[in-house]
Amino acid sequence: MIPHQIIAEMEVHLQNCLPEEGCGILAGIGNQVLRWFPITNIYHNPVRYRMDAQEQLNAFLEIEKQNWQLLAIVHSHPAGPPYPSDTDIAEAYYPESAYIIYAPINQDWLMSGYRIQDGLVKRITIISPE
Ligand SMILES: [Zn+2]
Repeated sequence: MIPHQIIAEMEVHLQNCLPEEGCGILAGIGNQVLRWFPITNIYHNPVRYRMDAQEQLNAFLEIEKQNWQLLAIVHSHPAGPPYPSDTDIAEAYYPESAYIIYAPINQDWLMSGYRIQDGLVKRITIISPE
């Protein structure tokens, strides 16, 4: 479950990163997302991303301090498609985390969720309140 407020924060960040891919981390407890950490894409590239290592570490330390869990790795595909690229699959280092990909659809963002484990991609449902 991702609260409206956090969805809004994510979309603002991804929008501000355009035309580059944007990225970040969702943390919380169980299925409940409690915090969005926007992370700088150090590649500043429209088709690749890599999280700034220091910002990612700071997010992980805060998650640990709060006793939260890493719930999702989020990034955008400004030119689509809304599913993981071969690179995303090869670089999916957190099998316990969900992977969320944002891609534009019409004037809006489409959010898709996946599990990526051992090179296999499985679609999952991401719930946000109506
Ligand atoms: Zn990607």
